[in-house]
Amino acid sequence: MRLTVLGCNGPYPEAGGACSGYLIKAGDTRILLECGSGSLSFLTALTEPEKIDAIVLSHLHYDHMSDLLPLSFRFAMTGKRVKVYAPCAPENIRALLDCPAYEWCDIAKGGQIGAVRFTAAPVRHPVPSYAVRFEHEGRVLCYSGDTNTCDTLKLFVKQADLFLCDACFTDALWQENLPHLSASKAAEAARAAGVKRLMLTHFRPDISKETLLSEAEKVFANVCLAQVGLKAEI
Ligand SMILES: [Zn+2]
Ligand SMILES: [Zn+2]
Repeated sequence: MRLTVLGCNGPYPEAGGACSGYLIKAGDTRILLECGSGSLSFLTALTEPEKIDAIVLSHLHYDHMSDLLPLSFRFAMTGKRVKVYAPCAPENIRALLDCPAYEWCDIAKGGQIGAVRFTAAPVRHPVPSYAVRFEHEGRVLCYSGDTNTCDTLKLFVKQADLFLCDACFTDALWQENLPHLSASKAAEAARAAGVKRLMLTHFRPDISKETLLSEAEKVFANVCLAQVGLKAEI
């Protein structure tokens, strides 16, 4: 499998950046994981969106799905129809994506997308949100979605080859009741789950990425920062 970062900001994009978006390629299978604002432009630079086999959304916050709105205009012109695996709530946001281009599927049930099998498990966020585990030929990519600390992560992420994890806050800013992890909490989850590599993501433009990386490195050595265009072989 190969992961390409199309966007790694949240909850709004930095100058020249994009909110959450990732392309997963395994053999001929292409999965679009999240489609936040700005990520569609970077996707289109890599591949025709019509070549996507399915879309997976961890949850229905705008920074993870808003570019599906203009993408539906493109698909209306090209006749593309694609499955969207996502939570069904909040219903008012899901209803924005009611169009012939998208066939809605419940992410909680997991599924098979071409050569890739995926499963999902609920995490802790203000709206229904899921961590997702992708498996292909014995290799495992896990993605936290948006979450603060939760028991799901340790078991679900267990021994992933790559763990892509929400790392929004520095230690100074993180609190138990906020909707996101800190970088060091992400690193603790990676260590507890015995993953091989950790990639931090979901960067708020006003928080220093260098601080996030240094705080994570104190807990887990094999860690890097997501950035648009970064590719990781899994
Ligand atoms: Zn987010
Ligand atoms: Zn969110």
